[in-house]
Amino acid sequence: MMTLADLADGLVVHAPHASLVIPPQLRCQFIHGEAALTREAHLSADLWTDRLGSEAWPRAGLIVPEVSRLVVDVERYESDACEPMSRVGRGVIYTHDHEGVRLRSDLSEAERERLLLDYYTPHWRRLRAAAAGAVLVDLHSYPETPWRIEPAGGSIRPQIDLGTDEALTPPAWAEALARHFHSAGLSVAFNTPYAGVIDAGARAAVMIEIRRDLMGGGPGTDAFGRLSGILGTAPGPPPP
Ligand SMILES: [Zn+2]
Repeated sequence: MMTLADLADGLVVHAPHASLVIPPQLRCQFIHGEAALTREAHLSADLWTDRLGSEAWPRAGLIVPEVSRLVVDVERYESDACEPMSRVGRGVIYTHDHEGVRLRSDLSEAERERLLLDYYTPHWRRLRAAAAGAVLVDLHSYPETPWRIEPAGGSIRPQIDLGTDEALTPPAWAEALARHFHSAGLSVAFNTPYAGVIDAGARAAVMIEIRRDLMGGGPGTDAFGRLSGILGTAPGPPPP
């Protein structure tokens, strides 16, 4: 079977929560002080998922947002009415931190529009252009211990969570991925604790959520190298 790495320029890796950037001109929107805001950006980020994607699949197109998810979360629905996480202040524009504490003051409709125009719309334009007709891996990480804001808190937390979609993830591919990670000695489950995968116009897509303890101390460590090696040899979907 062809690996994801073999797809070369037909593979797009999306790391939507990798950025730590909070533009200085937007800091005034946040209630947290400088140190607390930096800490929250680190805890909320899927740290090193961009590095992991480029180490595992060096020839893939890597799409990373310009800003931290605390500024704009590009993985959320644009409308709060469609986005369940908006109920805990973590819709497309966050108002609360990962512990449910108020993070940001209320924004005007114009300020909200500005953020979406500056960061959400261009990101999705870039992502859709890259993903059209390609294979998409949506790469995330998640904490070993559930956050209290998590809707599915308490469910099982495998080392690898594969998020699938009926229309976008061929079942044979999903099964092959699960076997691959399993044979590398990792625990795997489908759609738990996080489910589904984004639709950016790719011909096939999967979300890979990595439990954060698997990353070890990050880039340069043995654990990280081993993990990128396992991802780098993961199977690709059947040809179109
Ligand atoms: Zn994420």
